[in-house]
Amino acid sequence: MEAGTRERSTAETPGRPLAKLVEQALAGRRLDFVPALEARFEADTESERRRFLRNRLLAAIAVFTLFQVDDYYIAPDAFWASAALRFGVVVPVLFAAALMQGLRLTPLVRELTAFFCATLVALDLAAINLISRAPDHFHLLYGFVLLLVYANVFVQLRFRYAAATGAVTLAILLALLPANAATSTAVKVNLLLMVTSAVSVTLVGNYRLEWERRETYLLRLRETLRGDDLSARNQRLQDLSYRDWLTGLANRRLLEHYLEEACTRGEVGAGEIGMLMLDVDFFKNYNDRYGHPAGDACLQALATLLRGHMRAGVDLLARYGGEEFLAVLPGQGLPACLRIAERIRRAVEEAALPHEASPNGFVTLSIGVVAGQAGLAIDAETLIQSADAALYAAKQAGRNRIWPGLAQAGPRQRADRWMAKPRRPGAGHTG
Ligand code: GH3
Ligand code: MG
Ligand code: MG
Repeated sequence: MEAGTRERSTAETPGRPLAKLVEQALAGRRLDFVPALEARFEADTESERRRFLRNRLLAAIAVFTLFQVDDYYIAPDAFWASAALRFGVVVPVLFAAALMQGLRLTPLVRELTAFFCATLVALDLAAINLISRAPDHFHLLYGFVLLLVYANVFVQLRFRYAAATGAVTLAILLALLPANAATSTAVKVNLLLMVTSAVSVTLVGNYRLEWERRETYLLRLRETLRGDDLSARNQRLQDLSYRDWLTGLANRRLLEHYLEEACTRGEVGAGEIGMLMLDVDFFKNYNDRYGHPAGDACLQALATLLRGHMRAGVDLLARYGGEEFLAVLPGQGLPACLRIAERIRRAVEEAALPHEASPNGFVTLSIGVVAGQAGLAIDAETLIQSADAALYAAKQAGRNRIWPGLAQAGPRQRADRWMAKPRRPGAGHTG
């Protein structure tokens, strides 16, 4: 996988800008969130809001229906007209509005629907008041107070629609006053004051309810984002603990985890697993000749070159030791691994990185190559030992070459033992 699948972006945590908006909204205590936050609020709360509106509208229908009894006593002459309006128009519309909450309405349409229901009830009251000539018919208009409590507190219209409901109700009332000529000014003033007070009181309550709902949401979102941020940081730390600091390749820790999984569970490929152990030839001489920092840069250049030969998301390339790399090639048998190894060896040769302290004159690699059946036939340790033995053989045979090995258990060869052997650097070819 050139550890591709395990690689997580260390870029900025996505929750960061949103977290800032949450803090600003909490400090500002305003109902209108900035669009990005409003969109998130809407996405997270819309199904709950739709359920709430549906249930409250259904409850409102029940109460509104009860008031047919009230009409019987207060406006008996308009009883049938009132029943026709109530059950022929208003209740069906309210019911349809409640059912519509089951659809995915846009927030605007959803809130407008609820506002429209409140307006319709106000118009219904006005109509009965106009139709009836009964002595107490003016008292019907006290229903505006109840309507405001229902719309602004019980159904909890969004604040701007609650304010609009207040304005519409007052406007309708003012328009009706001249038509109620038989009612005394005292009674009219009394009702006007009542409705005006109801508008203000319910609006204050509505604002508080909406802010509390939004504040609760913001606090919950803040907790969620903090949790996400913490997980992202942990993930970044884990990523770092699996990386080689110099080359950015997988380190030995990740390699061991990966191999354990690959071999024990046979998770990778169709059970076959190939391995290349790659070692820079005469690297001590390189450091001696060019200095340690140049040696570091050379290792980085080699890492980049090797990475280019790995299948992203499939192979794992690790820095195994100082100037040793290890590639795990899931699903690849020995012939394929040998081809890949030779391709890499030649690419390094062709890169012709100068190495005056090497008999070759440029940087070269020796590569031990093995493959085996993961899971059943071979374990990770055996595979590594075999690749190491093959690498040892490649060194013995003259370096700058690849060497196939048998995937079988054996003693681990030590790199320093190669040093003890007489060096016979030769031209690169397959070992
Ligand atoms: P051989 O062809 O047998 O592999 O010889 P060699 O000199 O490459 O092998 P040896 O094991 O004798 O030396 C490895 C050298 O790699 C020694 C060490 O200074 C160098 N080395 C190991 N890690 C690093 C590193 O991170 N940066 C640099 N610049 N050099 C390193
Ligand atoms: Mg070496
Ligand atoms: Mg070595």
